[in-house]
Amino acid sequence: MRKLATIREITRIDPIVNADAIELATVDGWKVVVKKGEFKIGDHCIYFEIDSWIPADIAPFLFKGRSYKGVEGERLRTVKLRGQISQGLLLPYWGFVDVVNAYHRTRIETGNAFDVTDILGVQLYESPLPTNLAGAIRGNFPNFVKKTDQERIQNLKKELRDWNANSDLWEVTEKMDGSSMTVYFRDNEFGVCSRNFDLKETEENAFWKMANELNLRESLTNLGENVAIQGELIGPGIQGNKYALSKPMFLVFDVYDIDKGSYLPFYERKIVVRELNLKEVPCAGMRSIFGMSIEDLLSMAEGKSVLNNKSDREGLVFKRADGSTSFKSISNKWLLRNEE
Ligand code: AMP
Ligand code: MN
Repeated sequence: MRKLATIREITRIDPIVNADAIELATVDGWKVVVKKGEFKIGDHCIYFEIDSWIPADIAPFLFKGRSYKGVEGERLRTVKLRGQISQGLLLPYWGFVDVVNAYHRTRIETGNAFDVTDILGVQLYESPLPTNLAGAIRGNFPNFVKKTDQERIQNLKKELRDWNANSDLWEVTEKMDGSSMTVYFRDNEFGVCSRNFDLKETEENAFWKMANELNLRESLTNLGENVAIQGELIGPGIQGNKYALSKPMFLVFDVYDIDKGSYLPFYERKIVVRELNLKEVPCAGMRSIFGMSIEDLLSMAEGKSVLNNKSDREGLVFKRADGSTSFKSISNKWLLRNEE
């Protein structure tokens, strides 16, 4: 589960040019606009990440009458205030009795993000899939495959410090804004999944159509390994077809070894992808991230898509060459423009 609401320490407060009533707080890699004087450096408070669905009783001032999965509340987005990008929400934690209890009982060391997502009933906001993608549900997402997800670099300050200390190579791929698709083959059983569900084979479902068009049942049976192929389905009818494609495409970003319970390292993945005659997400090369800061990685995320150099790209995904870890760096420019 994603940690959407955590207790963290404010490490900086900076003024905002031409703004008297507000200032800029930093927690890990996140910058949040706050009321002047509300927080000071060293304060511990609750940080709610963008895409959190915040129940109305926690932040009544955000509430506009909307509800998601039965909970009244509002979604946090990237915003610009007085020319300053602000992402997420900071609140003092001592007003929330259950949080105070849990936090003080555990006495987490300073700097460790203490998870209060469940205590506060915060959910990840995911825009519902259109009917051509939603399909008919066969079951939950299989528990023998990992769901596709990427941690945001803003949450990885400590990890980045460790990665920085060595010269590991990272595979840098473009993050595609489509819909997550997983195709698996396990002990002769074949399945096609959306981000959260195993889907029944139907004529109309865009994931199944693509899997059939690519002959994946046959080629995975021939391959004979228990694997899941994970990628992004992009094209007409998906996320506004940002790359202006005339027909859908499936671009692979990972191959999961079901028996081992891990992702294939990149060179093994490439062999499988070629064997299955598939395409991969665009790769911007292998590089070290030695000496790079969160800000550096965020500005690197901005740029044009390789698929269609008229569209801004959503960002980049960095994967360690051995497949052991990865993160996403999303373009703030893109977020301001595209977060629906
Ligand atoms: P988000 O779209 O913000 O939820 O970020 C995670 C999702 O990015 C994953 O679930 C994938 O579906 C998707 N994705 C798009 N491009 C890539 C890529 N190059 N590598 C890994 N995941 C990707
Ligand atoms: Mn996405």
